[in-house]
Amino acid sequence: MQVNKEVCIGCGTCVGVCPVEAISLVDGKADINQETCIHCGTCAGVCPVNAIEE
Ligand code: SF4
Repeated sequence: MQVNKEVCIGCGTCVGVCPVEAISLVDGKADINQETCIHCGTCAGVCPVNAIEE
């Protein structure tokens, strides 16, 4: 999964729902750890601004 950092508003919603804790906020934007992400899509489903895509 990838975050469009121009769109992300840094709300942190995705950080809280990721089942493998692969997402953190870095400089106010979501940052996905590509090593641990399992591509479940949960974060993309909850992002209020659709900043996350496969
Ligand atoms: Fe950014 Fe969307 Fe994650 Fe909120 S849910 S921190 S807007 S990527």
